[in-house]
Amino acid sequence: MASSSMKPGVVTGERYRDFVSAAKEGGYALPAVNVTSTSTLNCALEAASKSQSDIIVQLSNGGAQFYAGKGIRESFTAKVLGAVSAARHIHLLAEHYGVCAVLHTDHANRELIPWVEALIEHGESFHKETGGPLYSSHMIDLSADDIEFNLSECERLLTRMAKVDMSIEIELGVTGGEEDGVGVDIDESADNSKLYTQPEDVLQAYERLSPLGHFSVAASFGNVHGVYKPGNVKLRPEILKNSQALIVEKFGATSNPLNLVFHGGSGSEKEKITEAVSYGVFKMNIDTDTQFAYSAPIKKYVETNGRAFEHQIDPDDGTPYKKLYDPRNWTRDCENNMAERLIEAFKDLGSYGKSIASR
Ligand SMILES: [Zn+2]
Repeated sequence: MASSSMKPGVVTGERYRDFVSAAKEGGYALPAVNVTSTSTLNCALEAASKSQSDIIVQLSNGGAQFYAGKGIRESFTAKVLGAVSAARHIHLLAEHYGVCAVLHTDHANRELIPWVEALIEHGESFHKETGGPLYSSHMIDLSADDIEFNLSECERLLTRMAKVDMSIEIELGVTGGEEDGVGVDIDESADNSKLYTQPEDVLQAYERLSPLGHFSVAASFGNVHGVYKPGNVKLRPEILKNSQALIVEKFGATSNPLNLVFHGGSGSEKEKITEAVSYGVFKMNIDTDTQFAYSAPIKKYVETNGRAFEHQIDPDDGTPYKKLYDPRNWTRDCENNMAERLIEAFKDLGSYGKSIASR
């Protein structure tokens, strides 16, 4: 049974499990927002705070590298340290925004398993230091590999992660499109049956992972990473419903036993989102739409204040432009617009006003 309220801040372990249950029982999901900088990260926390919603903050390997800085020569080191740095930043600040925040990493395919393992190692040290892990959960995407390799790797990693109270997110079935270099491009004229998760795979995952620890599943139901023109790939959320029903039938579990994740949420039809949430989706990844929202205000700002990007002081009338070219000014417009898009996401997912953080 999920507790109805908890202390604001990063949620891991039992608090994370309660957090997931509260969302499913409350019939809402949380956006998992990709962040790449202190600006996007603080903006995500601010939007959650304004909406009195909790939030999931997520870093991809490329986002983590950018967070550490493109100047670090060894990219693997940057990907690890950037993810650690962002996590410590959130651990320090989240409670001051008065919301609960889940810390997650994004897609890690076969080549990125060493990245996740390095982060687990940091999680183990953090656990020694504080009694809890650094990240709430890591995501492993071995959907491009065969199901046996996919599940045995997830078993191996979950066994290790469960010891420090961490959860894992796995991917079954191929989500079309590409996210930060991970994934496959979709061919909209091809047979797209691979874009739909097979129920027997879900069953096998549940059977093998449940005894080991807490996990969530990104199942494919026609969703694509990124925004594509409407094509022949149709969202079929009933696939999620059928997977839940199958687990209930085989294992006699209570309703919506699977913790489901919706990848490629950007650009999705609102009714399909609502339907997916009713089938036990508690997390919806959002990146493409928030990237666009962050960048869009720059055009207007530069058009309105063009001369401030050419001169520090106007050569004709001596007007000082410092206040206009100060990066904090135009960055703030980007943050405000990204926050607006996130507030829309909280409303679409039903989490608006539903924060379980105690006030
Ligand atoms: Zn995915």
